[in-house]
Amino acid sequence: MHSIQLVLNTKAELGEGPSWDSRRKVLYWVDITRQKLHLYNPTDKAHTTFDTGQYIGSVVPRKLGGIVMTLKHGFYAYEFETKNMELIGTVELDKPNNRFNDGKCDAAGRFWAGTMGHDSRPNVGALYCLDTDWSIKKVLDNIGISNGIAWNPDNSIMYYIDSLTNKVMAYDYDLTTATISNPRVAVSIPHSFAFPDGMTSDEEGMLWVAIWNGSAVTRWNPKTGKLLETVHVPATRTTSCVFGGDDLQDLYITSARIGLEEKILAKEPYAGGLFVVNTKVRGLPTYAFGG
Ligand code: CA
Repeated sequence: MHSIQLVLNTKAELGEGPSWDSRRKVLYWVDITRQKLHLYNPTDKAHTTFDTGQYIGSVVPRKLGGIVMTLKHGFYAYEFETKNMELIGTVELDKPNNRFNDGKCDAAGRFWAGTMGHDSRPNVGALYCLDTDWSIKKVLDNIGISNGIAWNPDNSIMYYIDSLTNKVMAYDYDLTTATISNPRVAVSIPHSFAFPDGMTSDEEGMLWVAIWNGSAVTRWNPKTGKLLETVHVPATRTTSCVFGGDDLQDLYITSARIGLEEKILAKEPYAGGLFVVNTKVRGLPTYAFGG
């Protein structure tokens, strides 16, 4: 593995949710609390941002073109060329203190995304699945902070992080019906690593988990629960990661500045930045929304 590099010192307040668009060869990510969508093209180094006017939790490419985002309470399709924003569906309009957090598409093009309370209280959130016909089903209830979602290479297992549990859960996954079953603990993250945030997976079936307050992305074997590798990130609040680039060997890493004391920020000039590290293993792709 090569050493980690700073890509952009965006000083995001709550940089999150990186997503690789293999068709346009660009990286998307979000700054949740500053309500911004970020776009970066590694080929020409162009960086652009869009104000979303609401908290933005996650972003994915869309097969029809453009992107789909989760804003505070809804899934929205957006076209860059026409600037057309279309509401796909909403959740939890009766819970003004909740918002969407992390989300990702499965290999069949469904958009999975979960919610959390603004004050990070346990059990107030849920996990949803937006199908390609635009129907939304609630899949899990009593979630604290809905975060990383990933699948194994043959899509027979879904992995999921509720950060307040300090665990990565595994579920048997039926890709034809989007059904999860047989929950079990895949990885128990030690409390010294507080706490697991965003997650992605690689072609060997291993999990890459960003550690909030841990200055690291960690690679785990979900079959044994063992830690395999640690990538040190010069940002205490490391939030998420995704594989990008033509060979899916560029691991892009997001970070946050929110809530850090001035004395920590003084030592972390790149907190809130976007980082990249080249890996030996290839990542699994970011899937686009299929509806
Ligand atoms: Ca997160």
